[in-house]
Parts: sequence; structure tokens; C-alpha cells
Amino acid sequence: MKQSMMFIPTLREIPADAEVKSHQLMLRAGFIRQNTSGVYSYLPLAHKVLKKIEQIVREEMNQAGASELLMPALQQAELWQESGRWYSYGPELMRLKDRHNRDFALGATHEEMITSLVRDEVKSYKRLPLALYQIQTKFRDEKRPRFGVLRGREFIMKDAYSFHSTNESLDEGYTKMFEAYQNVFSRCGLNFRAVIADSGAMGGTDTHEFMVLSEIGEDTIAYSDSSQYAANVEMAPVIAEYEKSNVAENELEKIVTPNQRTIEEISSFLNVSKETCVKSILFKVDEKFVLVLARGDHEINDIKVKNLFSASVVELATADETKEVLNCVPGYVGPINIPNEIEVVADQAVSVIINGVCGANEENHHYKGVNLDRDAKVSQYADLRFIQEGDVSPDGKGLIQFAKGIEVGHVFKLGTRYSEAMNATFLDENGRAQPMIMGCYGIGVSRTLAAIIEQHNDENGIVWPENIAPFTIHIIPVNVKNDSQRELAENLYHELNTKGYEVLLDDRQERVGVKFADSDLIGLPVRITVGKKADEGIVEVKLRKSGESFEVNLNDLTEKLT
Ligand code: ATP
Ligand code: MG
Ligand code: MG
Ligand code: MG
Repeated sequence: MKQSMMFIPTLREIPADAEVKSHQLMLRAGFIRQNTSGVYSYLPLAHKVLKKIEQIVREEMNQAGASELLMPALQQAELWQESGRWYSYGPELMRLKDRHNRDFALGATHEEMITSLVRDEVKSYKRLPLALYQIQTKFRDEKRPRFGVLRGREFIMKDAYSFHSTNESLDEGYTKMFEAYQNVFSRCGLNFRAVIADSGAMGGTDTHEFMVLSEIGEDTIAYSDSSQYAANVEMAPVIAEYEKSNVAENELEKIVTPNQRTIEEISSFLNVSKETCVKSILFKVDEKFVLVLARGDHEINDIKVKNLFSASVVELATADETKEVLNCVPGYVGPINIPNEIEVVADQAVSVIINGVCGANEENHHYKGVNLDRDAKVSQYADLRFIQEGDVSPDGKGLIQFAKGIEVGHVFKLGTRYSEAMNATFLDENGRAQPMIMGCYGIGVSRTLAAIIEQHNDENGIVWPENIAPFTIHIIPVNVKNDSQRELAENLYHELNTKGYEVLLDDRQERVGVKFADSDLIGLPVRITVGKKADEGIVEVKLRKSGESFEVNLNDLTEKLT
């Protein structure tokens, strides 16, 4: 590509409103421009990199056995009402009305859409497992869009969903996806950790986040280089989801069950206040028992404990009543599998502590980071440890280190959270209808682009890893008015293009200082400068990463480039 024909509006100054390196560099190197808060145009260079990341993602998804499709971003509210998320997702879901006054959402994620698609088409266990993915623009009205495209309100995501007839099959599918994610992020040149995450209000069991290590990351992770163990320390996902389940006071009265039960009636079933009822996270324990979690700060034996989830198990009169309560309370997150060794006693309080790290306390029962101890007395709370730097980790190998991470990917065993709510069933080998068992898997494609820049830059600009650089070689004729320099540069450009290199030729009539500065900013791996020695057939090669430079005779150039 000739630079004179490309749209690369570089900037000399650091834009005042850009706080982090990747945001500054993406603006300065002419990769993005903001339209409005959290909404960006990707200019040609960024677009090229996005396509490369997408290509890597596609190859790895296909390899993992998933096939690509494209679903609508515009989704009717009915789908979200079926799953209950129309009420629980909160203001992050972009909502709109059509001309007939019907409610719609712009897809923030596609569990509902894909569940409805698959339930209508797949009826037999013989068609399972099935894995589908798409690469698409997502919309989330983030409270604090920031750091450029790292947290946008419109962003590009790869989202995949898998459907299974057995838990073993889900485990297999999950492992394949997990490996595909490791490949994707390694191929993108990222230093990352896969960490145990909290399943928050999504329901489901196993979940891992892929965290790019970076000072500006919004998550804190605990990991050890000498062990496999890595986890997200923060309760952020749980709290965030929990806060999403907050419903405005004036909305409270509107919540009614299919049988027209009011929130009052439900709060009286649960024996909690109306408000607590709505703000709680509910889990189905079994047909008649519901576990109610409500977050708060507690003072125990003069020790202040933050973000403690207090919990109680509530017995409801009938199985139908259980269903009804769960279906109408915004915080319902799907069934929980309480491990067998925990006997649930209806009239006894259950103490629950979540500290975001699975298995932090070995003496107690754990369920995905939730410590369930039926007999916990108040005094025992204080004994529960929160994981700290320097601790031995849960698998006994190595010491825990903390680091900040940018979440670029997330894999999740959803279980039957959506298939039950939306009645997506298949007939098993005995002809019995069973809910499909699901997994979901997301990659922030546009966030990954910024995360790569965050990890690969120096004081002069971006330093692209070769795999995803927008071009591999930057040819710079020092003086385009000089015939032999211009011609040599042009010839070289055509020759390298023919040989399959991706080449950017800076044919602009600019001072060489400007060209070099832009070239460093854009950060292509190899720069070839065509200067005074053009007549002798000699050019200068400079490697962006190491800064190493050397003169090369044109005859030896291709050999040197490999
Ligand atoms: P976060 O914790 O950063 O808000 P999330 O957990 O809400 O992310 P997921 O629902 O897991 O996000 O979505 C899958 C992936 O989409 C995330 O791992 C992330 O890489 C990306 N993503 C999520 N929100 C945004 C956003 N606002 N801008 C850019 N990418 C995003
Ligand atoms: Mg989020
Ligand atoms: Mg998250
Ligand atoms: Mg996530």
C-alpha cells in the first residue's frame, strides 16, 4: 500500500484526554478516532490489525470444531424477557423501541438469541454437541467507558456457544475452547494468564478469564509462576452482576410472577424485606429450597468484613412456588449444585463467604469460590482468610503474587441456566426431553487490539509483534524528488509485494524526519530506508523492536529479511 493513498492521520502531541498508553498511541498513530464516549471509528491501520486478530480467532475456533454464523444485533425484548435478563441486566443493556412501540435490545451478548435459534432446530441428542461462533459488534452502555477501545460502549466481540447432551461433553468442549484461547492470545504475542473467575450472576460452574498482565488492568489476579494456580481476586464480577440486579424503587411494584404474585408476597415467602429480596442473588437448591445471598459489610468480633455475603436457605411450600419465586426475582441466577456433603437444613442459617478465590480455605466446603459452611458461627467468620500476596497457593506449589490484568477473554460453563429458562430441550437416547447443557466463550477482539499495544510499545510508538502488524515492512525513500531513490523504492515495493510481504511505501512528499517519526509511531517490524546509496544498490534496514540497523545490498535483502 502506498502511504499517500492511505488514511493515517498521525498526531505529534499526546491527546490530553487519553490516560493510558494504548489509547494515546492509537490516537497518535492514526488508528482510531472517537465519535462519542465509548464509540470509535477504526481507521485503516487498526482495521487491518483487527482483521488479523479475527483471522487468528477464526482459525482457532474452526480448529476447535466451532462453525461461524452471524446473528442479529437487534433483538426483540421477548427473548430477554424469557431468560429474565430483560429485568436483571440493568442499564448496561441498550434498549430501544421500534415504530410500533415494541421493545428491543441491541445485543450485549447472545445467549438468548442463540438458545432460541438452536432450540427451534436441534431436537435430538444425535445433533449434539454443537458449537457456533460469530464475530460481531456488541453494545453495552458501560457506566464508565474508558481507556479508548479497552472499554467501549460499542465493541467487537467473538462470542461462541456450545450445546451438549452430557456434562462430560461440556467438559470436553470447554477444554477445547480453553486451549483455543491459549493459542489465540499466544499468537497475538500477549503475556497473559488464564485465571479462575467467579461465575457471578451468570449461573453455571467452571469459568476462566484470560487476563493480559498490565498495570492498567482493572482486575487483580493472584497467580504463582511455579504453579498452575491463577485466580481473579476481586469480587468485581459478582458485585457488578449483583448491582445490576438492583431495581429502582419505582420498578419494585411492577415485578409480578406469571401467577401475578407481587414482590411483597415473594419477600414474605423469603422472609426478607422487599428491597433485600430484589437485591439478593437467589439460587435454587432443590425443588423446595432456595438459597438467598445478600451482600453487605459486617462487623464480627470487632473485625470489619467487607463484601460478606450473608445467606439463608428458605423453604417454600411447593415446588411450583420455588419456580415462581426464582423466575420473578431479578437476581435469580440459575440452579446451584450444592455439593452432597452439605446437607441443607431449611430452618437453619447458612453462612456463605465469597472471597473470589476458589479453595482459599481448605477446612471448609467450597463451591466455586463460595464457602458454604452450614454450621458456621459468627466467630468463625473472622478465621476465614482472604488470599494475600506471599501466601502458599491453594495447590501447595509456589507463592502467590498479585498482578493487574486486562480481561481479553472469558470461557464459561453455563449449564442449563438458559436452556431451562427458555425451554431448549433435546430428546435423549431414551426419548426423554432434557435441557441442553451449554457453554459460552467470549473474546474482546477490539480490546485485544488495544491490549497488544499496551504490552508492545516504547517511547517512540507502537512495536508490533510480527503476526499481527498491519504491514511487515515500511519502505521510506529519504527524498522522493530524487529519481533513483524514488524508483528504487518503488521497485523494491513491487518486488517485496510479489514475494508475499505486506509492505507500506511512504511515498509522501514529507521531510524525512516526519517520515521517521511516523514510522516509529506506527511501529512496523522492519523499516527499509532508501537514501544516498540508492545508486550503489544499498539500503538501510532497521528493526523496530531491537533498534538494530544495518546496510544491505539489494541482492542480499530477501535473505536478510527471513
Ligand atoms: P469487563 O469485566 O471488562 O466488564 P465482562 O466480563 O463484562 O468484561 P464478558 O461478558 O465476559 O465481559 O464479555 C466477553 C469479552 O468481551 C470480555 O472478556 C472482554 O474482552 C470483552 N468486553 C467486554 N466488555 C467490553 C467493553 N465494554 N469494551 C471492549 N471489550 C469488552
Ligand atoms: Mg462488563
Ligand atoms: Mg469481567
Ligand atoms: Mg467476563
